Amino acid sequence: MPILGKIGGTVEREQADAALFGRDRYLPTSGKRVPNEADRMCGAPGCGGGWTMPWKSRRRPILEREWACSQKCLKALVNSVVRRETGEGIVADETTSHRHRVPLGLVLLAQGWISHPQLRSALDAQRASGRGRIGDWLTQSCGLPEDRIARGLGVQWSCPVLGMDGFSAASMALVMPKRMVAEFGMVPLRVAGSRLLYLAFEERPNAAVALGVEQMSGLKVESGLLPGTKFEAARSAVLAAEGVPVHMKLVADRDGLADGIVRAVEQSQPLATRLVRVHQYYWLRMWLESGATQGIGNLPPGPEDVVDTLFLVGGQR
Ligand SMILES: [Zn+2]
Repeated sequence: MPILGKIGGTVEREQADAALFGRDRYLPTSGKRVPNEADRMCGAPGCGGGWTMPWKSRRRPILEREWACSQKCLKALVNSVVRRETGEGIVADETTSHRHRVPLGLVLLAQGWISHPQLRSALDAQRASGRGRIGDWLTQSCGLPEDRIARGLGVQWSCPVLGMDGFSAASMALVMPKRMVAEFGMVPLRVAGSRLLYLAFEERPNAAVALGVEQMSGLKVESGLLPGTKFEAARSAVLAAEGVPVHMKLVADRDGLADGIVRAVEQSQPLATRLVRVHQYYWLRMWLESGATQGIGNLPPGPEDVVDTLFLVGGQR
């Protein structure tokens, strides 16, 4: 593609593009950048409107990597993104894989951290009460330290046990909507080397959540476990910090979802937009000004000029 002369605002736009799309090899449609404004064509299939309307500003709105020249074209773009995200996608295989996991008690036994009688009495106590996790019962009945439980879970789920070094609640609160942090038993922990984002889970890693955060952040996600007390401390600090503003929207069906996205994009005229499905949520993030795209990966440097919308389709919670 020929390099055309730069026009006003292009440098700023390029910085935004570089921040959002320059390091995005983890994103679903990688390998394609948002072209400079001067080269930018409407992204809707079959539309030549970008060329026939030379007076039109092509700076906004941007949906993922595409600029839309009109409302009609924006709708076409949104529909293709919605079709992608409402497909089968990654379904968490927790129920199937769970069956093949060695039970935590046996892992701890094999590591030599508990004895047979200790495991038996903890299992009896759990059965008698009809509730609670085996790890908690072992802590209660024989004083098993929680970092041993976390290490046992790490063996069970083949993932590392993480530490709290480098944790910053203020920046981690910007990674994702707090509702998802509260609901999915996880907390973003830190960014390492400008390309890795550590997600800490309380009991077990969740592949669907990790993938969604990876796609949204543009960073490679490493999942791990955090011992109970540390996990609670990190999660409550993130929940207490200022996050990106979140709107909740209930929509009836896929068409309602597409309409809701079109409305949000038209209203906010974002410089960058991304839609990612995480379990029941369709998570739309819009970067409204280029300053918001200057963070690590796609993470915003602050809560300003970024807005999240969580769409729930149908009668889901
Ligand atoms: Zn168009």
